[in-house]
Amino acid sequence: MLMKQSPLSENISYNTSQTQLEEAAAIIKLDPAAFELLRHPLRELHITIAVKMDNGSTKIFQGFRVQHNDARGPNKGGIRFHPDETIDTIRALASWMTWKTAVMDLPLGGGKGGIICNPKAMSTGELERLSRAYIRQLGSFLGPEKDIPAPDVYTTPQIMGWIADEYSIMQGKNSFGVITGKPLALGGSAGRGDATARGGIYCVRDAAETLGLNPAGERAAIQGYGNAGSFAHKLALELLGMKVIAVSDSKGCIYNPDGFLYDALMEHKKTTGSVSGFPESAAISDKELLELDVTVLFPAALDSVITETNAPDIRAKIIAELANGPTTPEADSILYNKGVYIIPDLLCNAGGVTVSYFEMVQNSYGYFWEEEQVQQRLEKKMKTAFMEVQQTSQTYKVHNRLAAYIVAVKRVAEAMKLRGWY
Ligand code: GLU
Repeated sequence: MLMKQSPLSENISYNTSQTQLEEAAAIIKLDPAAFELLRHPLRELHITIAVKMDNGSTKIFQGFRVQHNDARGPNKGGIRFHPDETIDTIRALASWMTWKTAVMDLPLGGGKGGIICNPKAMSTGELERLSRAYIRQLGSFLGPEKDIPAPDVYTTPQIMGWIADEYSIMQGKNSFGVITGKPLALGGSAGRGDATARGGIYCVRDAAETLGLNPAGERAAIQGYGNAGSFAHKLALELLGMKVIAVSDSKGCIYNPDGFLYDALMEHKKTTGSVSGFPESAAISDKELLELDVTVLFPAALDSVITETNAPDIRAKIIAELANGPTTPEADSILYNKGVYIIPDLLCNAGGVTVSYFEMVQNSYGYFWEEEQVQQRLEKKMKTAFMEVQQTSQTYKVHNRLAAYIVAVKRVAEAMKLRGWY
């Protein structure tokens, strides 16, 4: 019998990830040594980076790379640039990558990296120097067979391009396979740009079918209008015929009961830097957005936004988690008991890492697929994982997140066992 462990940190995401693992481990009666191995990252590196700023000063940044578990294959996961980054958040996110790649049955492990910085207050040149310095410090720790980073919060294909270039210089040869989410001209994959949102939209379609709902004409709200959130808007309209009535970003939240057109809103965001102030929209609060009467709520920003405090007031029928870790375990139970259908992050946003994996495959054999092929393969992978999670939730009579954990932890534990780790 596993004992409940006391939290190791004050960090909500970290504690969430530990509680989720504990719950799954208890249900499948995971071997105690395997459990202890999975509670901690196998490796982590803390780095200090000095960057010459445009005004001639030198600024010092802290960065991290956490490799949670590589039993099933090389570590995989994004790099975040965020002012509130902490090592504990990265630890949680690295473990979520282990579970995500396992749920998708990709031959990969889990990792995550980050730099404490505010990219919005930095020039392009400063960002380039910061990104290059990051890989110079971590280079020997990364590589196509060891650990492959990718974009995440506030990191872009251009940043991936600089990192691929710097790593190639370090290797004395082109070695673009060290990172995914690259621009197409540098070995990126067709279809990587909208892959996270696309995978999530495929899941929403399957969830709606399970609930006997037709998404066409139904309302959706999107918290976060970055890569995943903005493409979710586009694809919710294009693939599901939904109406997106509220969206937000770090600067504000807008609402229009008739729904927003994608092209016009994207244009507004590009010119003004925010969705805020879009014509014919009312400003609402983030709390109001999360609690709107919608069929689908897409949390597509940061972690721990749906908690025991607001969960009782959430009215969405389906929560499609495009962000990592948006829901705390207490909120999970409240929502499950209310009958809200959660498509957990490990599944809902796994389209991104799945197409990253396709990018790795294409890089390693130097032959690139058409966008249509990428989308078809993604759709198939999402469908299989969706069905496995659904089936597991019925078998064990648990909510979808716990079901996703059960699928993932079993797979990772099996690989560790076969490798003789316990
Ligand atoms: N950052 C994304 C995630 O959290 C993508 C990771 C990847 O492509 O490796 O899943």
